Amino acid sequence: MTLAQRLARPEILALPPTDTAAAAGGAPIGGSIKLDANENPFVPLVGGGLAASVNRYPEPQPAALRQRLADLYGCSTAQLWATRGSDDAIDLLIRTFCRPGEDSIVIVEPTFSAYAQFARVQGAKVVPARLTDDLTFDAEAVIATCLGAKPKLLFLCTPNNPTGTPVDPADVRRIAAALPDTLVVADEAYIEFSDSPSFAGQVGGNLLVLRTLSKAYGLAGARVGCLIADPEIIELVSRVSPPYPLPSLSIALALDALAAERMPIHDQRIARLLADRNLLAERLRTVTEIRTIRTGGNFLFLEVDDPAALAQRLAAAGIRLRFRPNAAPGGVRVTVGTEAENAAMLAVFGLFEPARASRRAELVRDTKETRIAVAIDLDRPEPRCISTGIGFYDHMLDQVAAHGGFSLTLACSGDLEIDPHHSVEDIALALGAALRQALGDKRGIGRFGFALPMDEVRAEVLIDLSGRPFSKFDGHFDTPEVGGLPTQMVPHIFRSLADSMACAIHVKVEGDNDHHKVEGCFKAFGRALRMSLAIDGNATALPSTKGVL
Ligand SMILES: *Cc1c(COP(=O)(O)O)cnc(C)c1O
Repeated sequence: MTLAQRLARPEILALPPTDTAAAAGGAPIGGSIKLDANENPFVPLVGGGLAASVNRYPEPQPAALRQRLADLYGCSTAQLWATRGSDDAIDLLIRTFCRPGEDSIVIVEPTFSAYAQFARVQGAKVVPARLTDDLTFDAEAVIATCLGAKPKLLFLCTPNNPTGTPVDPADVRRIAAALPDTLVVADEAYIEFSDSPSFAGQVGGNLLVLRTLSKAYGLAGARVGCLIADPEIIELVSRVSPPYPLPSLSIALALDALAAERMPIHDQRIARLLADRNLLAERLRTVTEIRTIRTGGNFLFLEVDDPAALAQRLAAAGIRLRFRPNAAPGGVRVTVGTEAENAAMLAVFGLFEPARASRRAELVRDTKETRIAVAIDLDRPEPRCISTGIGFYDHMLDQVAAHGGFSLTLACSGDLEIDPHHSVEDIALALGAALRQALGDKRGIGRFGFALPMDEVRAEVLIDLSGRPFSKFDGHFDTPEVGGLPTQMVPHIFRSLADSMACAIHVKVEGDNDHHKVEGCFKAFGRALRMSLAIDGNATALPSTKGVL
């Protein structure tokens, strides 16, 4: 008997395997006449394209999403079962392997409450091991508990919720090797925020992994997660899974959010949450009522002297933190929020940050021709990460951001197989819109221009962030393209920027070499932007006698 057969409940082994590819009476689902599932043929009475196919059942295991998650996590689709959040995967595992009244799971307390909750509902015993007194992970103690309890499942949450405690990858491997008759489940809900590598690419035998889109990818409301395990375990779990675990709206949302051109912004958001988390820890270290601070995931775990008093102040400020007295005396879990939310939380601890509106923007712009995601921070020079699909255009926009002194993450999936035109124009529109959004009410910024030489070329750009779109381009090119960028698109780019930024842009360029001329325009534009974006002395004054720009 295989490991999965030995461990699974006999009732589950007796169930017939589910055919997840179950086709609609032979014909493929897409494009066929579906009279097989008692669905209503009329589209739902709600607006928006996403809801269009909600009258139909979703795919039992949506193939595109399964593939995307497998690519994201570095496993095969046969090793992955998409679930309604990873909560659902915990429940499925317990119901597949634990017989009521007979089998047990081991958890390492204090930890995520769902493991014990689902086990109790199933009638499985919950045997606790514990973190040490200073809340570190003790592999020997966990192995000893498991050798005594002989559990079907051991849940290792790494980094642990709520304490942030990591489990050393070497310990995970050692534990799995020491317990050949237990399924060792690494719950990696927060692994994206950790230095430790994921085990998703190394599952097999008795090592399983849970992943979720709820935390790092901001899709908690869509309820999408997965189990990653040996295909034989996946097959058994599939017998217990509800027939359509994921709503079609959630499937569409998840695929949209995980599209290739969105990924650089996800990476940047994760990095920002981590940086903010570490900054919060540093600030909170100065607060005497906080005895200890631990970090892990996208949260901090504090131990405070007087949780009741803190709860009162939080209620007055309208802020919710999670009190976890069972995890540690005075234990409080604090999730990292937005800049404004974090500042409000710090204020409850008597820490007041100088208020400054951040000049950031993130936006997505999707059409049938292009899909673009942009993130900008006018007050940080890094990171710059640009991928338009046209190498030379990447280089030009990098010049704009570098000389403009702002961070720019921009990615586009466009129909370059037709022509660069759509991508080039739409990217300029998206970039302009993001700049405009990041500028907010434009307080503290000016109107400027810049001229620069590049060898024999002279390029000059004047910008007035006037609220009125206008563009003027004085110059011409002799060659049809430079590095894949059609030169006739260059004036067009500045016009699109002027339109979407609602500003006046005048460009004048003269010289001999077209490469130099194009590059000169973008560099001068970056320099002129830097001057006009800079907050000069009076950060609240508008550079207009009209009082509005
Ligand atoms: C949040 C959380 C989950 C649940 O994630 P969903 O995918 O939203 O169900 C699982 N495990 C841990 C440790 C969590 O903190």
